[in-house]
Amino acid sequence: MHLSLVRDELMKILQCPVVECRSQELELVTVERSQEEVVTGVILCNSCKRWYPVINTIPHLLPDLLRGVEDSQFVKKLPNDFPYILNLSTHKFSKRE
Ligand SMILES: [Zn+2]
Repeated sequence: MHLSLVRDELMKILQCPVVECRSQELELVTVERSQEEVVTGVILCNSCKRWYPVINTIPHLLPDLLRGVEDSQFVKKLPNDFPYILNLSTHKFSKRE
């Protein structure tokens, strides 16, 4: 079964995967959507400032150690005017000035 991202419902149950954080205050930034689903997007944790990709409707909420090549491929495909800078080594985001 695929866990597809229906914005409001799923955002309520998702949690930051970082053990020291576990925040449920996550924010979803949509890049591409179809009808009800977010196809491509970025989930931001406003507590530890990490970002997580949504790839083909699936949120990838992985702890730091399990992140890697998928992240860099994802970042390359984002539009140039995406409003956040996504760091690939710290996994943290910052607002683009
Ligand atoms: Zn967090």
